[in-house]
Amino acid sequence: MSGITTRAIHTRFAKKDPHGSLQMPVYDSASFEFDSAADIENAFTGRKSSHMYSRISNPTVEHFENKVLAITEAFGVLSVSSGMASISNLILTIAGSGDSIITTKRLFGNTYSLFERTLKPWGLTVKYADLNKLETLENLFDKTTRAIFLETITNPQLEVADIEQLAAIAKRHKILVVVDTTITPLFFLNAKSLGIDIEVLSSTKYISGGATSVGGLIIDYGTYDWENNPKLADDAQKFGDAALIAKLRKEVYRNLGTCLSPHNAYLQSLGLETMALRAEASCANTLAIAEYLHSNAKIASVNYPGLEDSPHYQIARKQFRHRCGALLTFDLNSKEECFQFMDKLQFIRRATNLNDNKTLILHPASTIFCEYDARLKAEMGIRETMMRLAVGIEDIEDLFADISQALELL
Ligand SMILES: *Cc1c(COP(=O)(O)O)cnc(C)c1O
Repeated sequence: MSGITTRAIHTRFAKKDPHGSLQMPVYDSASFEFDSAADIENAFTGRKSSHMYSRISNPTVEHFENKVLAITEAFGVLSVSSGMASISNLILTIAGSGDSIITTKRLFGNTYSLFERTLKPWGLTVKYADLNKLETLENLFDKTTRAIFLETITNPQLEVADIEQLAAIAKRHKILVVVDTTITPLFFLNAKSLGIDIEVLSSTKYISGGATSVGGLIIDYGTYDWENNPKLADDAQKFGDAALIAKLRKEVYRNLGTCLSPHNAYLQSLGLETMALRAEASCANTLAIAEYLHSNAKIASVNYPGLEDSPHYQIARKQFRHRCGALLTFDLNSKEECFQFMDKLQFIRRATNLNDNKTLILHPASTIFCEYDARLKAEMGIRETMMRLAVGIEDIEDLFADISQALELL
């Protein structure tokens, strides 16, 4: 099986279902029983692997993880309760007080808040760089650096860094490369060949598809030598390449209690089966809308890495195999015009999500970034005149019609 969709559909259950169920049932059970005291001891001490308690593992959740493993051919996968949980679990596992990470201010708003407001007071140092200026990075690395963290296409600035070059620099310093790939669904980029060690992502978005459920994934490509990280050096001795996933499962993820619910794992398993088809459709729609807006005189500017005049066009094409995601931004002349435009839309929804089946519109400055002052917003690339359109899979003629009638009324 080589195709993404085939793999997503035909991944076998870890154990044969007693009823021959074709879809993995939802094991909505907190706990699992054992035949004997010796069996439960073997489970708890790890001599025999079995499900014991659903905060730690669950058959429906495990099946979802196995599908992701089959698609990515990664070394290890852990699903968690949200995209934010994937980032917090990962950072809390690889870094602690006195450690530092290198990232950029061009980040998803809540990720920036996690770094600045939640983890900094615990002693994490966060160094912000311009990841499109590679020459500025070298002097940020020191003996406290534990990871470089970036997003494949930054949300909502839509900047694209050259991951291969960044990873090469990180590897010279033996530093872990962590990439939030939420905007680019699993098969868009060949993470391992680009030098990504760990992918974190929100499965709420492309994988769930229809905004059915919140979830997240940590995907480990088995490429990092964990002996280079003092927090994981002991685990590296014991578990080798599996050190990160082992530390998460046996400690951080277990203790934080950020498990994905079996019901959400079921919904997201279904979503995975059609992800590739939906992603092709939404990307094609996005490019068509970007070109349409680009040629419209009422639009001050359009930002989409799939447009030839985008500064990120070449690198996006190289990295994402010609698919540049389903998110675009455009600028009108004022915040008032943005609000008017939003209110005139007939079926495009005013909602915060992306990679949904439905096309959604948002004014980032007054929503996701509303808690930041004007100076910080400017540093984060957020303008009052900017709209974010998260394009869905509707028929393109209908999307054109809704956008053009709203523009005419401006
Ligand atoms: C939505 C999003 C997240 C957070 O995911 P949740 O599932 O909402 O917790 C993280 N990173 C990016 C780029 C996102 O778009």
